This record gives sequence, structure tokens and C-alpha cells, in this order.
Amino acid sequence: MRAVAQAVAEGTIGGRLWLYANYHCNLTCTYCLTESAPAVARRQLPLDQLPEIAAEARAEGFTALGVTGGEPFLVPGALGIRVRVATTTEGLEPDALARLCELHRSLGVPDEDHVVRPVVRRGRAVDHGLGVDAGLADLPAELTITADGAFWSPFGPTVHGGRLDTDLLITRTTRPLSIPARAMLRIAGDAGPRSGPEGPRIC
Ligand code: SF4
Repeated sequence: MRAVAQAVAEGTIGGRLWLYANYHCNLTCTYCLTESAPAVARRQLPLDQLPEIAAEARAEGFTALGVTGGEPFLVPGALGIRVRVATTTEGLEPDALARLCELHRSLGVPDEDHVVRPVVRRGRAVDHGLGVDAGLADLPAELTITADGAFWSPFGPTVHGGRLDTDLLITRTTRPLSIPARAMLRIAGDAGPRSGPEGPRIC
């Protein structure tokens, strides 16, 4: 068994590889981890690299792929994929959450594809005093590829004050995928399984 597949099977690292497709967004949320907005730097992963990295991920032993941003649906070519909905709970009344769950069900997104989690205090959330602190020790190891490098977690390549945070940067080199994958395995070492702020599904 390949090293990544074995580490995933043992729970040392997560099975999902994350790709930051882009950083621009049609919204400007106050808690945004990446300071995304319509006019920010796009930091876009080249479209032709996405299927190539996905193929490498499967060969390495990753079991799932997450595409995030920014708003990936602003990038042509992200269409036609399975949708998961992530909701942040800060300030959200139970009634509003129940209405949201009714909505995603009516649109064909089942409960198992709805993740509810807290705001993490990175990006714009720092300026607004929102969320919970989360460092490497708190975050599950989920390799995350961006145009600027490979990170420990999808909560790693955040932006604050217009600058990319690098405290959770693993390698600037992202291809071949085996390079950041090996680096992550070295860091994960014998730390064992972790839980983190993806949070429970409660709908
Ligand atoms: S990327 Fe998400 S959190 Fe950030 S502005 Fe867009 S919708 Fe809001």
C-alpha cells in the first residue's frame, strides 16, 4: 500500500485533497477566511491542472477531492460536480438553520452533504472579532493545493490584510503531488488522528 493510502487508512491524515480553485467571490462576508470579494486577486489554479492533480491524488491514495475558494462556481469548468453546502453557525438562529436545511433538501442536496461548523478566526473574521482560534494542532491533516503552494488544511491558505497567511504552508512546490504529500506525511508523523472544525452535521 502506498504511504498516503496507508496514512489515510490509519487516520493519520485525511483522505480528502483540497484544491483552492480561485479566491474571488460574488460575496464579501465579514467572516471570510480568504478576504474574498469580487475584485480581489484571483490566485486561480490553472484549469487544466485540476484534472491532472485529481488523477495524481487517486494514484497517491487520496480518497476524495474538495474544490473550494473563493467561489469555485465563478470559474468556468467547475460545473456539473456534486455539491456540498457548508454553513457557519455564528449568529445563526435555529429557525434560520431549519429553513436553510429545507431549502437545500428542496434543491436536491441531501443532509449528508450539508456541513455545519463554527467560524474560524482567520481572514476577515480576525478584524470582526469572530470565531474560534485554530492552529495546526487543532486542524485535521487535509492536504490543500493552491496557486501559491500546498497547505496543511483548507483553513490554511487564508488571507489577512491582503497577504496570504503562510503559517500552515507545507511546501511551495505542488507538482508532482507526491512532493507535498510526502511533506505532509513527515509533519503528521505519529501525531495520530485529529478532529477539527468541519464540525458535526446537525440537520
Ligand atoms: S468565499 Fe465564502 S465566506 Fe468568503 S466571501 Fe465568498 S461566500 Fe463569503
